[in-house]
Amino acid sequence: MASVYFDHNATTALDSIVLEAMLPWMQTQSGNPTSRHSYGRRSRDAIEHARAQVAEACGAYSSQVVFTSCGTEANNFAVKGIVGIKPAVTAQQILTSAIEHPCVTRPALAIQPLGYVSRHIAVDANGKVNLEQLKSQLVKSTGLVSVMLANNETGVIQNIASIADVVRNAGAFMHTDAVQGLGKIELNFADLNVHAMTVSSHKIHGPQGAAALILDKRVDIQPLLHGGGQEKGLRSGTENVAAIVGFGAACELAIANQKHFAAHTQALREQFEQGLKSLNVTIFGNQASRLPNTSFFAIDGIEGETLVMALDRKGYAVASGSACSSDSTKPSHVLLAMGVHADIARGAVRVSFGAGNTSAQVTDFLATLSNEILRLKQLTSIAA
Ligand code: PLP
Repeated sequence: MASVYFDHNATTALDSIVLEAMLPWMQTQSGNPTSRHSYGRRSRDAIEHARAQVAEACGAYSSQVVFTSCGTEANNFAVKGIVGIKPAVTAQQILTSAIEHPCVTRPALAIQPLGYVSRHIAVDANGKVNLEQLKSQLVKSTGLVSVMLANNETGVIQNIASIADVVRNAGAFMHTDAVQGLGKIELNFADLNVHAMTVSSHKIHGPQGAAALILDKRVDIQPLLHGGGQEKGLRSGTENVAAIVGFGAACELAIANQKHFAAHTQALREQFEQGLKSLNVTIFGNQASRLPNTSFFAIDGIEGETLVMALDRKGYAVASGSACSSDSTKPSHVLLAMGVHADIARGAVRVSFGAGNTSAQVTDFLATLSNEILRLKQLTSIAA
């Protein structure tokens, strides 16, 4: 069982304050929010309070928050729902960056049989979207462009406002997946100038089971789920009151702590990457602005998956490639899109720090990492 957790981009532990806020809604208080009696009304009020907390954290209005069950659902909703406003004949093309999470790229691919065409926007060696290439790909029939705010593997941050400007000028809708941005960097829906933005609770010490699509009200999106008409008809299904309440509480904490989180985790990352220098390591995306807590690197000649398992046995939880993908043995599509050779990409390991990590943990981790690299290299040379 790992005792030091360095995988905060995958998920985070529930904050005790969040748990406390949720408990009544899992025990005594919860009524169906659509019920007219006092139990139902209390649940409805709790959801509306959480909606205001999420809106505040995202620089949005409450009326722009549509709750979903996870970031994956919100991204599917954005891609399928926005592009579905217009039939494929007039909004044929969907552009997604080559480094998106699969829950953006796969829905775009899934609707191709309906007549839509999904294409990738290339990124440069630093993992940044190439604006000139995007401009050349935007055509009259482009319905939607989706570019993530910050990448879950490299942490590289895109200039979403500039991208959105170009996309709007071309008459297309713009979505950003901000799941990794919330709580780590400043986030403001209005400033990003997008039509839709995804955020998720479990990345910010909230519970799994709640997320949101922040939506410009002028976007006449099509629902994924039809039914009882919850969330103004945009997302039917009885609300997960406890999870939504927890998401709201987590948002409040994330915003109160964001500056401290950024300063603290950036200091840990600097210490870590300084220590990596002696280990013949490639650090990905470090020439671009990155999430403060994220370091993605590869050690020449060692498989990322092997190193992750070895470190787990020593009590450290880190990730190889994208922990959110079930195809984790394939080299990271993010690194391949950045032009990294597949052999190097296969060695990629991600460390993502959290507010609870300490400098002493980083010092000890560097020593363990160095020993494990030595041991694995010796094993490889014996096997060769
Ligand atoms: N988008 C990004 C960038 C992610 O990192 C993740 C999860 O890791 C998701 C979307 C999916 O979010 P969820 O786990 O809430 O479905």
